[in-house]
Amino acid sequence: MRRLLALLLVGSIILSMTACAKGNTETTDTTDSTEDVTVTDENDSVESPTAIPIEEETISEEENENLIPGGYFDQESSKWGTYTESGGAGKISVNPDGQLEVVIENSGTVGHAVQVYCDGFELLKNAVYEISFDISSSIDRIMEWRIQLNGGDYHAYVSEENVGITNEMKHFTCTFTMEEESDPAPRLCFNLGFYQLDGELASHTVTLDNVELFLKDASRAEPAATGDMGPSININQVGYRSDDNKIAIFRDSSLDNKFEVYNVDAGKIVYTGYVLGSVQTISAGETVAYGDFSSVKEAGTYKLVAANSGESYEFVINDEVYDDLIDDVVRMLYLQRCGSELKPEYAGDFAHAACHTQKGIIYGTSEKKDVSGGWHDAGDYGRYVVPGAKAVADILLAYEDYSHVFTDDVGIPESGNGIPDILDEARYELEWMLKMQDKKSGGVYHKVTGLNFEAMVMPETVTDDLYIMPISNCATGDFAAVMAIAARVYKLFDSAVAKECHTSSIRALDYLEANDGEGGYRNPGDVLTGEYPDTVDTDEYFWALSELYKTTGSSVYEKKIATIDFDSFDDGMGWQAVSLYGYYAYLTAEKQNDDIKKKIINKFNTYLNSVEKNIEADGYFSSMGDVYYWGSNMTLANNGMALLMANRIIENSTDFDQLAKKQLDYLLGANSTSYCFVTGYGSQSPQNTHHRPSEALGTTMIGMLVGGANSNLEDPYAENVLSGRPAAKCYVDNMQSYSCNEITVYWNSPLIYLLAGLEAN
Ligand SMILES: [Zn+2]
Repeated sequence: MRRLLALLLVGSIILSMTACAKGNTETTDTTDSTEDVTVTDENDSVESPTAIPIEEETISEEENENLIPGGYFDQESSKWGTYTESGGAGKISVNPDGQLEVVIENSGTVGHAVQVYCDGFELLKNAVYEISFDISSSIDRIMEWRIQLNGGDYHAYVSEENVGITNEMKHFTCTFTMEEESDPAPRLCFNLGFYQLDGELASHTVTLDNVELFLKDASRAEPAATGDMGPSININQVGYRSDDNKIAIFRDSSLDNKFEVYNVDAGKIVYTGYVLGSVQTISAGETVAYGDFSSVKEAGTYKLVAANSGESYEFVINDEVYDDLIDDVVRMLYLQRCGSELKPEYAGDFAHAACHTQKGIIYGTSEKKDVSGGWHDAGDYGRYVVPGAKAVADILLAYEDYSHVFTDDVGIPESGNGIPDILDEARYELEWMLKMQDKKSGGVYHKVTGLNFEAMVMPETVTDDLYIMPISNCATGDFAAVMAIAARVYKLFDSAVAKECHTSSIRALDYLEANDGEGGYRNPGDVLTGEYPDTVDTDEYFWALSELYKTTGSSVYEKKIATIDFDSFDDGMGWQAVSLYGYYAYLTAEKQNDDIKKKIINKFNTYLNSVEKNIEADGYFSSMGDVYYWGSNMTLANNGMALLMANRIIENSTDFDQLAKKQLDYLLGANSTSYCFVTGYGSQSPQNTHHRPSEALGTTMIGMLVGGANSNLEDPYAENVLSGRPAAKCYVDNMQSYSCNEITVYWNSPLIYLLAGLEAN
C-alpha cells in the first residue's frame, strides 16, 4: 500500500527515524563494521569517511521510481518470497489493507531461519540510495534487515541488526552508498527468525508495508557489467586434432569476406580463406558466416584474424588436444565423491575429510540406514538415484563402446590397480546405489539429502540430519537398468560384483512389476532439495528390460519389451526421459525381433531427424532449436552421444560423427556466448560456478561442464541480467545464477561419452 494511504488507515504510526549506521543511539551498536554503510546525517560525517554528498537534484522526482518491485503490496508480487531453514516456519500473504503479513509459527534457531525477501532490483557502484519501510509485529521482538549478495557468502551491502519492532507501525529509513561492484541482482531480506535477545517466540505476525528504495544520487554510479559477448569470430577454444573439420563462426556475415589463420608460435600467417555463407540464427539474434580452415593441420597454436571482425581466441591444433580434458572431466567425478576422505595428492585444493558419513533417517520413520558414499550430485551435496543412474549409464556405455580410450592413470586413488579408472569411478557410485535399494522389497529410495540445501561450505562441515526419501518407481527402474549394464561390464573384472549387480537389477525389476502404476516421485512438503520429479515410469521400465535383455539374451525380457507402447513416453536420454538408452540397448543386443527392431529404429530415427533439423537450421550447429532450457549443455552433449550411438547401429547417409563433433565444438567455445563451457579449459571459461566447494574455497574446480544458456531465466540473477537477450545468449558466469552456471555429474557424463566416441573414431 502506498504510504499516504497507509497514513490514513493506520492511526498510530510513529515516524521514528532509525538510521542504519554505527553509533546511532536508536539502534544497538552491532552493525558489522565491514559492511558498507555510510551515513548521510551531516552530524555523523566522521563515521562515514566514504560518504558522498547527496545532490538531490541529480534525480528528478518523476524519474525516481521505487526500485522495489511490489513494495507497496497493492497486489501479489512474484518478486517477494520466503526462505526458511534451521527449524523456522513462516508464511506470507497480502492482507486486505494491502500490507504484507508474515505469520511466523516457529522462529527456528538462527536469525535467517525465517526470511522474507525481495529480488528484482539492482545496486550500482558508487550510487547513493535511500531505503525505507514500515513494520510492526504482534509481539515485541527483534529483527534484522539487509540488502545482500544473493549467493556465495551472502554478505550484506547494507544492513541493520537488532531492530526492535512492536505492534505499532514504525517507519525506518536509511541512506547508504553502494561501495562494492555493481550488483544486478541483490536481495533485500527481512530476517524474522530467532534472536538471542528475544529467546523463544510464540507464534506471531509481522506486518510490512511501503518498502521503498530510491536512487538519490547517480552522478558517480557505475553501471553493472553488460556481459560482453566476446570475440566476433568463435572457434572450439580447446582446439582441434589435425584431421578434424575446422570451421570458425563469424557473428556478422556482412563484415568480412576474407580471414587469415595466424600461427602464434611461428609469428606468421599460414592460411588465407574466404568467409562464406549467411545463416540467420534466431536463437542467437545473429546472421552468421563461416571460415573453413580444415586444411591447416600442422600442430601449433593459432588464432584467426579478419579485418573487421577482429581476432578469435587462440587455439591449439594437436592430435592429443582432448587427452587432458577427458581425464579432468572424469576426475571431476572423483572430486564429487561423498563419504570418503579426498586426499591432497589426488584432490589438490579440493581435498577434504570424509563427509555425510552418518546414517540416513528413512523419511517418515525413526529407522536409520547406512547410505554413505556415491557422488555429490551437483553444486549441492544431495545424492539422487535418478540423475546418478544417468551419469553411471553414460560412463559405463562409454567404456563398453570405446574401452581403448580409457586409461588407468587419471590420478584417482585406484589409478594403477589394473582396472580402467572410469570403471573404478563408476563403481564408487554403484556401491552407493546398492545401499539405496530396500533389501526387503527391492524398491530403490529416490534420494538422500538434508531437508534443505546446505550453506556454501565444504561438505565435511555439514552436520544436518540426512533423510532418505521414499522409494520411487523411476529410481527403481533406472537402478534396474544401470545394474544390468554393470553386470555386463564388470564381468571381466570382478565376477562377484557383476553377480550382485545382476541380482539387484532383477529384484528392482520385480518391485516395479509388483508396483506398476505407482507413478513417480514428489518431494514431501518440508523437503526443499532437488526433486527430480517424473510422472511416467514406462520408459524406465522399458530401459531396464532392454538392458537385462542385452545382458542375458533371455526371451523373457524380449516378450515384455514387445508389450511396451513406445508412444506412451517422450524420447530422450536425460534423467527424466530415458527411452533412447533402452532403444540403444535393444539394438545392440545380440539378437533382435524384426517387429520390435522396426518400431525402435523408427523411434530412434524420429529423434535423430529432429536433432539433425535443428543442427542444419542453426548458425552455430547447435541441436537445441530456438529454446534453451535449464541444462541445455546436457542436451547438446546427449544429442552428440545419440548421434555417435546412431552411427554404430543405424544405416544412414548422414555423417553422424561430424554432427556430433559440432556439438562438442559448441560446448568448447563455438557458440554465441564465446564461452568454453568446461571450467579450466579454453580462453574464456566459467569462473564463478554455482558449486559449493568452488565457492567455499574461492577457486573453481577444473573439468566441470556448466548448465549453459537457459532462456527460461529461472533464477533472480538471470532474470535481472539476461532479460530480453536471444535464447542462446541467456548465459551468465555468476555463482548466483544456478539455472545457468551450476554443474552436475550427469552433465559431465554425456560429455565423457562424446569425447570418448570422437577420440576413438
Ligand atoms: Zn558428502
